[in-house]
Amino acid sequence: MHNEQLIVWMCGIILSRATFFGSEAVSAVKDFIIATFPSLASMPEILFYDNNCKLRLHLLAIRDKYFSNTGLPVDVFHFDAKHSGTDTSCQQHCNPVAFPDLVKDNKW
Ligand SMILES: [Zn+2]
Repeated sequence: MHNEQLIVWMCGIILSRATFFGSEAVSAVKDFIIATFPSLASMPEILFYDNNCKLRLHLLAIRDKYFSNTGLPVDVFHFDAKHSGTDTSCQQHCNPVAFPDLVKDNKW
């Protein structure tokens, strides 16, 4: 076993769990999310994941449409720990501040 993945509602209730073997491949994370939200209508508007920038690149590469109405922000810690200052793709597409529903009084 490599790790356990959880999908948790914002209130803290665990919605879904999966065991990952070998690695935490973003393609497997995508499959886990789709298994948890098996219809487009059930997909959340916002889905936090600490590697959403890589998941987003994977979705672009496979021309996925399933996630097209779901925002994919990362947590703020991610920016400092995972990217150099010159890597702006994650900042541009996965910064929580870029999602108006997550911002109140200029803070997310
Ligand atoms: Zn990132």
